[in-house]
Amino acid sequence: KANRKFHPDDTVVKLPNGLQIGGGTMTLIAGPCSVESEAQITEVAKRVHAAGAQFLRGGAFKPRTSPYAFQGLKAEGLELLNVAKKETGMPIVTELMSVRQIDLFLEAGVDVIQVGARNMQNFDLLRELGHLKTPILLKRGLSGTIEELLMSAEYIMAGGNENVILCERGIRTYETFTRNTLDISAVPILKKISHLPVVVDPSHAGGISWLVEPLAMAAVAAGADGLIIEVHNNPKKALSDGAQSLTPDQFDHVAGRIKEIAPLFGKK
Ligand code: PEP
Ligand code: MN
Repeated sequence: KANRKFHPDDTVVKLPNGLQIGGGTMTLIAGPCSVESEAQITEVAKRVHAAGAQFLRGGAFKPRTSPYAFQGLKAEGLELLNVAKKETGMPIVTELMSVRQIDLFLEAGVDVIQVGARNMQNFDLLRELGHLKTPILLKRGLSGTIEELLMSAEYIMAGGNENVILCERGIRTYETFTRNTLDISAVPILKKISHLPVVVDPSHAGGISWLVEPLAMAAVAAGADGLIIEVHNNPKKALSDGAQSLTPDQFDHVAGRIKEIAPLFGKK
């Protein structure tokens, strides 16, 4: 179902509010790694919205390496995302970690459900998400091949939910300078063999705030339909992923550059 052979036209994921992902538009999804407080999420939401982001990201359920690290505000985080959504009108993208959270996410009206890298091959979860209508942002696993990413998309699509957005977020390699290695070639490859929109996450790929801009620019040049970027009002104090988070001012600058170059690569 994800194969371009049987579906030559690009899939455009349409949201009820008129926004879309794919189909020649450049989508900017921005916000903090984790929702931390009402003041934090509303401030970041207003700033990224003003800079041109169309979607707000923010984790309420966080897949942390250590069980002792901040695990997210959970249900309260979803409520705070909705406060920010009301204030800015931005649809919400947030990660779901378990089938047990599906009802909560539907009640909260989450606009795009993120499946994180660590859950790319949670087939039971993918199958359940296949029964929803909510668009799914499916991130590539830490060691997931392109073929495996597409097969995971198939698990969702086989159930009837064809609103899948693929996300390249860097893969594990022997390189340690960066958190992961951005597989830039995955972008044109996924666009060639699949019709699904492709979004790149330069924040988790590089793991370093100053790398976000060049990786984002490379993603646009490679044909990405969108970017998902972490932005925090005070990165030094962030409860997760501060080192890779942009300040709102830095995001202003990156968004400006993306808007300058995106038309050169066929994205409005
Ligand atoms: C995130 O988006 O904050 C996240 C945990 O991403 P990934 O699943 O790509 O590591
Ligand atoms: Mn993060």
